[in-house]
Amino acid sequence: MSLGNASEELKWKEGRNMKKIVWLFGLLLFIVIGSACSDDRLKVVIDPGHGGIDAGATGVSGKYEKDFTLSLSKKVEQLLKKESDIKVLMTRSDDTFISQESRQRPKYANEVKADLFISIHGNTFSDSSVSGTETFYYHKNSQSFAEIMQKHVVEATGFRDRGAMERDLFVVKETEMPAALLEIGYLTNQEDEAKMWTDDFQNRVAASIVAGIKEYQESLERAEE
Ligand SMILES: [Zn+2]
Repeated sequence: MSLGNASEELKWKEGRNMKKIVWLFGLLLFIVIGSACSDDRLKVVIDPGHGGIDAGATGVSGKYEKDFTLSLSKKVEQLLKKESDIKVLMTRSDDTFISQESRQRPKYANEVKADLFISIHGNTFSDSSVSGTETFYYHKNSQSFAEIMQKHVVEATGFRDRGAMERDLFVVKETEMPAALLEIGYLTNQEDEAKMWTDDFQNRVAASIVAGIKEYQESLERAEE
């Protein structure tokens, strides 16, 4: 082998090493930018019904629906924060008033491009013997989500299963993602309301809401396969 050939070989090797460095640098850049930009967690907006001057229903005990919805929603939020593949966002985290006219609840969910929207409520009726759990949705793409949520929540409440039904409610109508409004139970039913205010009941229902979200998430993943 001549000396000339040896230096040619050295140059060739250097060139190859340089290419390797550029390639590795590129890969590193791709990983850094990729992990910063893509958040493929399921984005869930929890909407505690009412708030501020809008107290919602007044229960038999005189307690307000707005406080029940916030208390339960915060429990759901805490549980969802433990899920590494779910990102939870709240329409309110305190006794803030959100006017219906502002359409802020669905607007917020649309703006953050949520994957799921869940509005939490307590029900009311003139007849205090009426009891049960029901879920409302509006768009066809929300039906299976609403049905899954109803199945889980009613199991946790133990109240009568009033089903998942279509209803023209702006929070589920103006949201662009699958959306469900949960009427956990009747605050006007003395027996049910007493249960609804216990930590035990709320923890159980919060867990069932998370279970419903996860079942729906799994059904999405199966559909993608
Ligand atoms: Zn309500």
